Amino acid sequence: MTNADGAAIIKQAVDIVDLIGQVVPLRRAGRRHVGLCPFHKEKTPSFSVDAENGFFYCFGCGAGGDVLTFTMKHWNLTFSEALRYLADRYNLTLPETGRDNEQVRKERDAMFAVLDEACDFFYRELHHSESGKAAREYIKKRSLPENTVERQRLGYAPNAWDVLLRHFRHRGLDPRLGVKAGLFVEAAKGSLYDRFRNRLMFPIADDRGRVVAFGGRSLDGSEPKYLNSPETAVYHKGRTLYQFAAAREACRELRQVVLVEGYLDLLAFHAQDFYRVAATLGTALTATQVRLLHRIADEVVLVYDADPAGRKAMFRALPLFLDEELAVTTVDLPSGMDPDDFLKSEGIGAFEKLMETRRDLGSVAIDDALSSWDGTSVGKGRVIQQLQPILGGVSHPVLRSGYVRRVAERLALSEDVVDRQLASGKAGASGPRRPESTRWAERMQPPSTGVQAVASPEETLVRLMVRHPVLIDEVRTAGVLERFAASSLRSIAEALFQAVDRPEAFDPRSVYERLAGDEARALFSRLLLEDDTDDLEFCRLVLHERMASLRRRDAVQRRAALQAAIEEAEKNGDFARLQELLREMQSIHKVESRTQTGIR
Ligand SMILES: [Zn+2]
Repeated sequence: MTNADGAAIIKQAVDIVDLIGQVVPLRRAGRRHVGLCPFHKEKTPSFSVDAENGFFYCFGCGAGGDVLTFTMKHWNLTFSEALRYLADRYNLTLPETGRDNEQVRKERDAMFAVLDEACDFFYRELHHSESGKAAREYIKKRSLPENTVERQRLGYAPNAWDVLLRHFRHRGLDPRLGVKAGLFVEAAKGSLYDRFRNRLMFPIADDRGRVVAFGGRSLDGSEPKYLNSPETAVYHKGRTLYQFAAAREACRELRQVVLVEGYLDLLAFHAQDFYRVAATLGTALTATQVRLLHRIADEVVLVYDADPAGRKAMFRALPLFLDEELAVTTVDLPSGMDPDDFLKSEGIGAFEKLMETRRDLGSVAIDDALSSWDGTSVGKGRVIQQLQPILGGVSHPVLRSGYVRRVAERLALSEDVVDRQLASGKAGASGPRRPESTRWAERMQPPSTGVQAVASPEETLVRLMVRHPVLIDEVRTAGVLERFAASSLRSIAEALFQAVDRPEAFDPRSVYERLAGDEARALFSRLLLEDDTDDLEFCRLVLHERMASLRRRDAVQRRAALQAAIEEAEKNGDFARLQELLREMQSIHKVESRTQTGIR
């Protein structure tokens, strides 16, 4: 195993905003996070982090890279040390070099193998055993289609303390591995027993489709209704969402994802061929999960149970979305229904209709609080108090003023009073914040843009390709690469060309991997993190202008070289050579006049 495998695991698992956020305070600004650079002294933030792709860049001092580069630079570590440090900090098991780590990797693989084996076992129990009958009936009652049950490899854990354990012994599998994978529980005296008993089993897979955990629904009313695998070396609850891989795939076109609370709610969507949906795993939503959703979507539609508990859970999650500046909306299911009920009785068509009526969750929370107002002045204070933990931390001026106006109008108070009341008191549910005024004042400061002020044509071309991957092919087919002078930019362009085959699935991470050298990598991080307000057509115009100017620059240089060669040939009386050179000169003139009239 090589360090590269370890690096891949680290980069997938470590949230760059989480890591850097522990070193310097970061705030979301558009699709980036910004803060004061930890690598040079500054008063206004020029340090940016791209959470989606896992890069950082400082426009002040030029430091840039990924989680590993950051760790090496900040803690002054070597590459291998940085790997170990991050693995340690985030409780990850790394397939590193060396015998110990080979051991660890083998154990992880063995855990995947026993989890898969358990998955097969539960599957067989569901389909072929006498004891699985109740579970089969339950599935029928919930009208889960056969192909969904198959595709998700649903299963049944029999009602006994040691059936899976006996199966392990029978197959010669090490029960200790089953303990590590969360399948068995160790009793006080050291004896083992099955964790899941008499439960319908939902396998939970990681990004690569490997089973890492299970959720088990009780079939006999015993508590808890849902029992999940514990945290293990391969399963991290707060960083996992049920069916995230399928949702990521489905969100490529429309960056909007539905979030539900339950396994069955989610599968009801899959059963109707709707895959832009993920589910929390029976625990409160975490900030990391919200960032995970932001990677694949620009809007999250919460569809929780239409009861007081579901509403409460949604409002509790609101600050996480506001903090991440990720649009969050919700729909009104008929009272008392859950998404599963609704889809079964009304169908996906009705759901999509309902989606058209979705509302901003902040406004829903305000209306909810206002509906409890008793009309008294004291009651006004209570309404604001109720809203304070939800809205008190909103720093985005447009969102905030909208919310404040809504509350002020309804309570017949001045906006100023409402704003101050919301800002005072306890800090928001997402933790202490700095005063809103300083946050936005800083954010509006343009980054110190010394670096990008004098961009070469190469740099502009590469920047435009990074910003709009659909343009990559236009540059590639124009054949201007040979005219590139700067080697880092050239290597980025080459890496982009290699990635061009599926521009809709353009993955900056894999381009980054192809780059050789820190300079190219830092530069690429910078290009990714620069502001990108220009639209595609404008960028296309600039692109062709810059390609033309590259050709012109190239022509000027070639003409100078030719001129020297012509003089040399004349001096030597080499007429054959002279003629050849003059022909070449002519062709350069042709290219020049073409590019000057704007014809490509
Ligand atoms: Zn810096």
